[in-house]
Amino acid sequence: MTERYAPAGPVPHIPDDLTVVQFTLDSQHPTRPLRPDGVPWLIEDTTGRRVGSEEIRARVFGLANGLHTEFNIGEDDVVCLYSPNHIDYPVAIWAAHRLGAIISPANPSYTADELEHQISLIKAKLLIVHPDSLQTAITAASSAGIPSDRIVLFDDGSETHRRTIQRLIDDGLAKPPRFVERRLKPGEAKTKLAFLSFSSGTTGRPKAVAIPHYAPIANVIQMAMHHKVNVDYAPYEKRRFRPGDTAILVLPMYHIYGLVVNLHLMLFSAVTLVVVSRFNFENMLKSIVKYRIAHLFLVPPQVVLLCKHPVTKKYDLSHVRFCMAGAAPITKELTEELIKVLPNADVGQGYGMTETSTVVAMFPAEQRIGVLGSAGQLIPGVVARVVKEDGSLAKPGELGELVVKSPSNALGYFNNVEATKESFIDGWVRTGDEVTIDENAELFVLDRLKEIMKVRGFQVAPAELEGLLLAHPDVADVCVVGIPDDYSGEVPLAFVVPHVRAMERVKDDPSEAERIKASIAKHVADRKVNYKHLSGGVEFIDSIPKNPSGKLLRRVLRDKARALKQST
Ligand code: AMP
Repeated sequence: MTERYAPAGPVPHIPDDLTVVQFTLDSQHPTRPLRPDGVPWLIEDTTGRRVGSEEIRARVFGLANGLHTEFNIGEDDVVCLYSPNHIDYPVAIWAAHRLGAIISPANPSYTADELEHQISLIKAKLLIVHPDSLQTAITAASSAGIPSDRIVLFDDGSETHRRTIQRLIDDGLAKPPRFVERRLKPGEAKTKLAFLSFSSGTTGRPKAVAIPHYAPIANVIQMAMHHKVNVDYAPYEKRRFRPGDTAILVLPMYHIYGLVVNLHLMLFSAVTLVVVSRFNFENMLKSIVKYRIAHLFLVPPQVVLLCKHPVTKKYDLSHVRFCMAGAAPITKELTEELIKVLPNADVGQGYGMTETSTVVAMFPAEQRIGVLGSAGQLIPGVVARVVKEDGSLAKPGELGELVVKSPSNALGYFNNVEATKESFIDGWVRTGDEVTIDENAELFVLDRLKEIMKVRGFQVAPAELEGLLLAHPDVADVCVVGIPDDYSGEVPLAFVVPHVRAMERVKDDPSEAERIKASIAKHVADRKVNYKHLSGGVEFIDSIPKNPSGKLLRRVLRDKARALKQST
């Protein structure tokens, strides 16, 4: 058998006529446990404010009414959220969904150029932003031709005239409903868009992934089965996520891992989320203790801190029952250290991507500790193929590119037929990851065939940086690759062919080389969010290796960069 199926078999019914908000706030499902009375849905980390289901429903209604009345937000309008985590972030998502609108989450650290790329591509009709990011949002909106009065704030900022979510909610609640809730016909959830999340896919610049309502709903149900959330599948004590447990929501909701796994899976599982707006390691440890957090969803750099930072020892983490690392790999050695730091926790990895609206593999509830080095076991409903270089299908244990079919697969890239054709083929998604899958459906990610790097769990597209670097006057040609880094996983390094003019200056004065390199690094630092900066350095090279048809031989330079790193 060459296609691999998750051992747990098929998934129970996945509703195809519900929006994400209806699934989360209004409906029941056989795999969904009941939340005990009085247990809040969300707690604001800094203030301790507790928000329960009635308050959330009211806020969602108020905001939907306000957005409709004041901004005429409706069918397929795109609302961009440009903010770190905020207790009203999910409220904003669900309010937009009630109106039939689409949410496009953006990294709040994006520069104006990066944000402008996103909001132009998705044709955003409204931006909801954190006050700290307001000036950048105004600049980006202006370049994208979006009027400044279509920027709403998550909280009061210095601009008191500007509308805030709170004011829209208050106004919306004071008025009778002016909007008609968007309901779906049977099957419509498979095509009606819920999110436009950004990913570079296998090549090129970041693109908007078209995620229909059905996809994250499916992924939540698939994961719930994998973790034996519901009593029908496992007795209470065998379930991983139990009603009334508490999890931390420190992963950003603008990334698919935070959005689908940490937010929607946890709420579906009747777990309370402590919403952390900005990651600070020691504050996170304090919150884990203060709120007796049972479940941690992390990215590898946070695991590195947990294992290596001396301050960890000051905190008693013995109540933590589950910790998963995802978005990038962690080594066996680090996993072993993590097991020691969290002695009573199930520990393992999850693997997923934006194009599969998140999880493809995770360590299941049966495994207290995930198989070391494995990115997880395929979750129910996923069918996987490992395609070898010659196009044939790999046998268990053989290496090849992972290609997956899952009810959570996205539809393609928004308004980009060419890129969609490359990665979305007959219902299958090409992951661009080089993997093996063994007889037990354990997935091992060995390398990345696609261009992207993962820096602290965030995607960095070489093509995006190369395009920018070619605009630098001293750069004749360039190739950006990732080099390994203990904390970030990898960091970008640019191989640059200097312009002849630059080389002439270096010939006259050799110290000029360092100034040119610094100016090239600054060129990126001034225009891109910090994890895209050239922290791996700038190296001069005579020419960029290319094949006869002109395609960059990125792997040759990646190996060269790794050798360079080892020699320093
Ligand atoms: P994103 O769309 O930003 O979530 O990025 C998806 C990519 O992250 C995958 O295609 C992998 O290359 C990488 N990734 C996610 N989880 C893991 C993991 N556990 N191990 C190795 N790579 C991972």
